[in-house]
Amino acid sequence: MDFDKHIHFYVEEEEAKQILICVIAISLAFTIVYAGLNAAVKHPKSFLFFTALSVVTVGSGFILHEMAHKLVAIYYGAYARFQMWVQGLMIMFITSFFGFLFAAPGAVYIYSPRITKKENGLISIVGPIVNIVIALVFLGLENIRPVKFFFPFFGEPLHVWDFGAKINIVLALFNMLPMFPLDGSKVFVWNKIIWFGFIVLSLGFGYFVFQSIDIVVMWGILLLVSLIMSRAFIR
Ligand SMILES: [Zn+2]
Repeated sequence: MDFDKHIHFYVEEEEAKQILICVIAISLAFTIVYAGLNAAVKHPKSFLFFTALSVVTVGSGFILHEMAHKLVAIYYGAYARFQMWVQGLMIMFITSFFGFLFAAPGAVYIYSPRITKKENGLISIVGPIVNIVIALVFLGLENIRPVKFFFPFFGEPLHVWDFGAKINIVLALFNMLPMFPLDGSKVFVWNKIIWFGFIVLSLGFGYFVFQSIDIVVMWGILLLVSLIMSRAFIR
């Protein structure tokens, strides 16, 4: 990409505030899923520490993913801004109490008089690409400088970088499901071969990092569910 002088990557104060709220919220909800709400009462210090680690592993994956969308959208001449979604924030916390994370606290909204399918596809795919890059960085850190912590709510010590890598692979794969409004739906509409290639590489990478076929099976089930749901909703 050649970045010329027309590109102004600028984060407004209100936007920065909303990003900060969402990063903290997603890290907290993630901690509730992993440690359980019980841990907040029984081991408050460990709970807070795990939330801080979640900012590093999950929060970073979230914010860099969204900022990548914004950067490429601005590159294509659009106005792009992160907007918090209060209902999404609430749904995220409610699902976290039930042990799973529906992470949709907000997204980058793009305003442009004209954006092509290709541009929209590229704006979309860059988010999951960023998560894969972060996963690779974490995997490198795991090999160079592993960090382990013991938490009373886990049976075994947590390898922080390995954990961060896994979370970012899941983030990339989830966002690439071909279901509106997820990134995958726009990539799928733009170029099915690129969408498929990305999925195959990410699943292969996931299989290598998780050392288990479960990630492939689970993504396959989610794909099936999203196909059934899009048939049910799009007529
Ligand atoms: Zn995205």
